[in-house]
Amino acid sequence: MKKRVLITGAAGFLGSHLCDKFIQEGYEVIGMDNLITGDMKNISHLFEHEAFKFYHHDVTTFVHVPGTIDYILHFASPASPIDYLKIPIQTLKVGSLGTHNLLGLAKEKKARILIASTSEVYGDPLVHPQDESYYGNVNTIGPRGVYDEAKRFQESMTMAYHRFHGLETRIARIFNTYGPRMRLNDGRVIPAFIGQALRGEDLTVFGDGLQTRSFCYIDDQIEGLYRLLLSDYSLPVNIGNPEEITILDFAKEVLKLTDSDQKIVHQELPKDDPAQRQPDIALAKKLLGWEPKVSRQDGMEKTYAYFKGLTKEELFKSEHKDFSKHIRN
Ligand code: UDP
Repeated sequence: MKKRVLITGAAGFLGSHLCDKFIQEGYEVIGMDNLITGDMKNISHLFEHEAFKFYHHDVTTFVHVPGTIDYILHFASPASPIDYLKIPIQTLKVGSLGTHNLLGLAKEKKARILIASTSEVYGDPLVHPQDESYYGNVNTIGPRGVYDEAKRFQESMTMAYHRFHGLETRIARIFNTYGPRMRLNDGRVIPAFIGQALRGEDLTVFGDGLQTRSFCYIDDQIEGLYRLLLSDYSLPVNIGNPEEITILDFAKEVLKLTDSDQKIVHQELPKDDPAQRQPDIALAKKLLGWEPKVSRQDGMEKTYAYFKGLTKEELFKSEHKDFSKHIRN
């Protein structure tokens, strides 16, 4: 009998790659998504597998799945600053109500659950690099608060189910991750820069560009998450790539990679944009024997190849996705 795994946010960037991984590893996969930010295109290739099923469902309402479930991976959430500015209440609901529903389902099915948390729980960190013992510096009422606080609540709720109900839980604190299937217009820096380069536009660096990020290639991220799920550790674990770069230097790398001669232009820095972010991954190394293997150069080449494969129409449809018809706040 194959083990059965439920993956929420299955049509999203991380979720769809997780579906691929679990199908490859011989699991039966149930993907679930309400398709607000996800895209069926990311999982259409999976429908040829008998072991893959898809439920179009919003996890902020009661989640029913017939039969047994061995593992749940909760990856449903908007995850880019522009998205959660546009759908702030949905973002809060999926991290809080959605998490509660999935924890309840995990308890009912006696399943182990892995929750996608985020480096955003550290906010604009005063400690650098960030290890799991840092409590964070988050503005609860700022524009990013809807995401950050939902994820912090999610961690508390998950630990409460673990401690009170004895549920098997895992918490991944995911740092910036990139690769094929990111949405071109989700506002995140990597699709933004590559899209601009491909359209012949100048690259928009927010602020002076001296803020840092550390970018993890999707294959490394998925391997880390997979190992964490199968580990026996229930406290939060950072999963990310510790190689840190300023956004300005990164913009220059993208110009070189894409062989573009456009300029870099500066735009206003969004509110509460963290000044620096770099994971301390000592715990993941020790616990999971895991560390990233893909260099930024290799990962960016693969990502660029993916975006080059988009149609002209997709590339020039530059407006941000319209969520209005989906929203029920
Ligand atoms: N950023 C930028 N230009 C863009 C998009 C983003 O300079 O067109 C910056 C943004 O201000 C932030 C960094 O790139 O400092 C990473 O932004 P992203 O939205 O990808 O992720 P997050 O801020 O959540 O780490």
